[in-house]
Amino acid sequence: MIRVYTCLFFVTFSCAVVASPPVGETFGHLKSGEEASIYTLTSEAGLMVRVTDFGATLVELYAPDASGTIDDVVLGFDDVSGYESEDNQYFGCTTGRVCNRIANARFTLNGKEYKLAANDGVNHLHGGATRSLDKVLWKAEPFETDTQQGVAFSYSSPDGEEGYPGNLIIRTTYSLMRQTNELQIDYLATTDVPTPVNLTNHAYFNLSGAGSETVLEHVLQLNADRYTPSDDTLIPTGEIAPVADTPLDFREPHVIGDRIQELVDTAALGYDHNFVLNEPAGDSSIRLAAVLTDPRSGRRLTIRTSQPAIQLYSGNFLKGQKGKGERSYPLRSALCLETQFSPDSVNQPKFPSIVLKPDQEWRAHTMLTFSAVPR
Ligand code: BGC
Repeated sequence: MIRVYTCLFFVTFSCAVVASPPVGETFGHLKSGEEASIYTLTSEAGLMVRVTDFGATLVELYAPDASGTIDDVVLGFDDVSGYESEDNQYFGCTTGRVCNRIANARFTLNGKEYKLAANDGVNHLHGGATRSLDKVLWKAEPFETDTQQGVAFSYSSPDGEEGYPGNLIIRTTYSLMRQTNELQIDYLATTDVPTPVNLTNHAYFNLSGAGSETVLEHVLQLNADRYTPSDDTLIPTGEIAPVADTPLDFREPHVIGDRIQELVDTAALGYDHNFVLNEPAGDSSIRLAAVLTDPRSGRRLTIRTSQPAIQLYSGNFLKGQKGKGERSYPLRSALCLETQFSPDSVNQPKFPSIVLKPDQEWRAHTMLTFSAVPR
């Protein structure tokens, strides 16, 4: 499968980029019988991206290494049945309505308590159990401009879905830049009653190529002086603490595997921590979040975002499941860098609010830029 896409990539580039919106192809059928579609985005600069309307999910992301060889650097499945299976651990999806955890699967808004699905022990994780954003079919609108090719996915989540109040209209837009190695992900949400919103993308990266053994040799730098310590169930205590003198200090580039051992016997089982990003420079609303480098391939991913925090998750629950092209995904064979608002913000008065009101728009913007450094 992977080889087929590689050929497709080169054919596309040898003929120059086709100036038309991406066309949906079948990505298989859901258990419900509905058909899922997949869209291919290509750039002149060297990236190729495939996204599906199931979960508004990033399925493939081919990026060049230091010698120009492309490989797919995100985990995923060959068709939608994999995404509906137990093996799918939120691979590449749009995560929400509220990503990460909500303590005791409940929150109170304007004096009313709302109960959500407890799908992570007593807590609520990644928007719920059956109709979270990763488990539904979105409407796709492919587009093309002079500078980008992309797909805008939209989904209307009805009042009460997964226990959340309000009719929430959500749009996730993937835009691949034509001339630069950059994929932009934009989120927009509106509601008719106040409701919490926290959207992220849950891509699992391995810059050596999805299915390579581990990411322990990847080098990470995070633009975060502080993090949110959490309890035994990974719910923030409310404290915002310095990363200095902890294995979470990525202010200078660090090899992931260097200090992960110190965290293996904690509740997180490795890296599974939320970092509070440093403020953006000057008047910009966009801040540098992370720089991830793979010394083996030379691929480098730089993440910039409007979001105030980022979750570093080192694939601590990956179990060797088979993914794209029959490659397997063992423990720590990928990591997630999820730009977000801090976990459990809806119950944490000291964290920035995630409550969206009817007269507001919830917007977030994340840019993934790929480059290559000499090996
Ligand atoms: C969370 C992990 C969780 C994983 C599920 C991450 O965003 O931080 O705790 O196990 O998602 O895939």
